[in-house]
Amino acid sequence: MRITSTTVLAGGLAILPGTLACDPNLRPARDSLSRRELAPRADTSSVKRPQFGSVPYGVSIGSCTVPGKVAITIDDGFHIYTSDLLDIFKRNGVKATFFVVADNGQFGRPLLGDPSGPFPALMKRAIAEGHQLGSHSWSHQNFLEISPQERQQELVKLEGTFVDVLGFFPTYFRPPYTAFDNAVVKQLADLGYHNVNYDLDTDDWKLDFAKSKSIFSSAVSSTSASTSSYIALMHELEEKSVHELAQFIIDAAKKNGYDLVTVGECLGDPPSNWYRDPATGGPVGGAPPPPDPTTSSSSSTSSTTSSKSTTSSPSSSSKSSSSSSSSKGSTIVTTTSIITTPVQRPTAPATTTPAPATTSPPAQGDARSLNSLISVGAVLLGGLGLLVYL
Ligand SMILES: [Zn+2]
Repeated sequence: MRITSTTVLAGGLAILPGTLACDPNLRPARDSLSRRELAPRADTSSVKRPQFGSVPYGVSIGSCTVPGKVAITIDDGFHIYTSDLLDIFKRNGVKATFFVVADNGQFGRPLLGDPSGPFPALMKRAIAEGHQLGSHSWSHQNFLEISPQERQQELVKLEGTFVDVLGFFPTYFRPPYTAFDNAVVKQLADLGYHNVNYDLDTDDWKLDFAKSKSIFSSAVSSTSASTSSYIALMHELEEKSVHELAQFIIDAAKKNGYDLVTVGECLGDPPSNWYRDPATGGPVGGAPPPPDPTTSSSSSTSSTTSSKSTTSSPSSSSKSSSSSSSSKGSTIVTTTSIITTPVQRPTAPATTTPAPATTSPPAQGDARSLNSLISVGAVLLGGLGLLVYL
């Protein structure tokens, strides 16, 4: 059974019996999770959070705005198969989005930011290879079952890990279990997060992989890449999701004319907007945050979008050549290429599903040149010593 954002919103809640996107059986009780901490961590609690870019805040984003794209989103990692998954994506020349947690409740799995574990290096590798990393909270709590203060902690703590490892933190978030209501959506907007849903659920956590393949292939073969696009959901906790389903999805999507891209790309959002610079609160490598007047009261769930589409575009130099950015080897080149991919602006009807009482205009606007990607690469290289993967 699959839920759509529409269904969810119509019901007032994003979670319905039997429609969970993540398997509640795959994690231990909340109490045991909440005790797992990693310190010290960067503290982002006082970072300003203007809502930059033209992708809406305060709504449930359930589909792409750029036709012909399949944005694979992988939830609940990183995990023991992440390296293999990155290899598969690299071999096939495709990009994806990982909604990560610090603690996914898997026994023995190090916390995401644990410097003695494998994940910090994999986070850098994923960024260097052009993938997008979004937040899925610190420990995968159901946001409908915890207090606003706990929700904020779940977000801010994971931001600390991102800053510790990469120097910036995400502006894209998927609530655990895709569970949210109006209050959650508003809080996410206030904290500068896009609330990302999906419109193609492979149901891979149910472990019926034949069914998962059928769901995916039926979707992409029954629609036209010239007019359709998808935000597809899968996970990386199960070996077969990575070693079997991932390649199948890639092949089926390509066979039917779809490009596999990140969520940011399928929404026409420049990579610099996928992350927030903790020093400025603005886009990574971009201009300073937009003047606050419009967004200042980040409490705008209802007015959402548009006003914030203030695109304070970081574009200063229109397009820097793709490979120019890099003095540093392949890593950056890769990153840059992704970024330089012309970001098509939404020509399709808005796919964002308005939060309860909101109407969200289609994310549109500018076709900001993704020069900023280069800045992402620069940031990575410069500040973070990403040279590791050269
Ligand atoms: Zn999840």
